[in-house]
Amino acid sequence: MLIKYLPLFLLFILLLVIIYSFIFFEKTVSFDSIPSVKLSYNPVCNGSDRSPCVDSLGCSGERICVRGAWTGCINKKVCNPGERSNCIENFCSTGYKICNECGTGYSECIHPKIIQNKNETNNSPSLTVNLIVEQKIVNSSENKSEEKQILDFFKWVESHNIRLVGVNKSTDYFYYNGSKSDDFLDAKNVPNILEVAKGLYKIPDDILKAMNGKTVYLSYQHGRGYTVLSSFPEQHILVNMGRGSIIEQPLTEVQVIHEFGHILDYHGIRGIYNDKENHWADLDNERAIIFNVTFPYNPRALAPPRGYIDVYSTANDAENFAQHFMFYILKGQDFREFAKNDALLKEKYDFFKNKLFHGREY
Ligand SMILES: [Zn+2]
Repeated sequence: MLIKYLPLFLLFILLLVIIYSFIFFEKTVSFDSIPSVKLSYNPVCNGSDRSPCVDSLGCSGERICVRGAWTGCINKKVCNPGERSNCIENFCSTGYKICNECGTGYSECIHPKIIQNKNETNNSPSLTVNLIVEQKIVNSSENKSEEKQILDFFKWVESHNIRLVGVNKSTDYFYYNGSKSDDFLDAKNVPNILEVAKGLYKIPDDILKAMNGKTVYLSYQHGRGYTVLSSFPEQHILVNMGRGSIIEQPLTEVQVIHEFGHILDYHGIRGIYNDKENHWADLDNERAIIFNVTFPYNPRALAPPRGYIDVYSTANDAENFAQHFMFYILKGQDFREFAKNDALLKEKYDFFKNKLFHGREY
């Protein structure tokens, strides 16, 4: 009788061992994974907190806490900024509405009659046509040198180990859906690409090394700039995206330098997400004091308070850093002028001049 049931008994024991070892293995893995999550930078948020924020266009959105650092600010778009759409009143189309500059909603309905009246008092259309024709003639003669400039720019980014890719999707899309191979296009044909060159050329190599191994995504879509601090597959955010910047139309050097300012700040100085280009870690404490924003942001303020170059730089410490970095390069003269009678602005200016730019001024 005992011998008859022995194989069954042994099988039961084996099953218990498998279940136990599985549970034990699971525990070991989760226990071991804790030290690897240990942060080498100061956490600024907890768990998977969510917090309202304002993006680089001053549009309100949301940011999420991942491994002790905030992802960039994102706002969910419902339409493309500037896009027209029919508006339906009492079941018939009575006019059109325009998507707001944040892409988060539409204007009130605009009735065609109002536009007609405006045109009667405005003789500018013919002037506009002339300007467009003139521009086209100039453009065709400049095409060749433009092509050469674009090729030179590609060689330059390669020599700086920066990846340049064209994309047909928006920041908003990439944030929620990640990227797939067919989202990528040849960057050479992306409109306004030379604006990106103009911006990046102005950053000294010694500072630009924060971009080493990173990507600049040049989008055909209209929108704003965005810094991809990392890809977060577990949170389904920015899946398959490389660290770097997404620059959207119209590409401008302001956008490029501002977004680079975030990379220098987050990765270069603060070492967020353990980036290997954390060369300026010794500036972290000083940066935290100089660029700290201690009051709530009021995007409708007509003028910035003392110590701030513009209203947007009061949004939070990260925007404070990126905006002043951008002004240091593109509006150096104005920055120096304002800093003459403003101790905090002078402190910010000197931080860039002495600690990052080794005395180089613009
Ligand atoms: Zn920004």
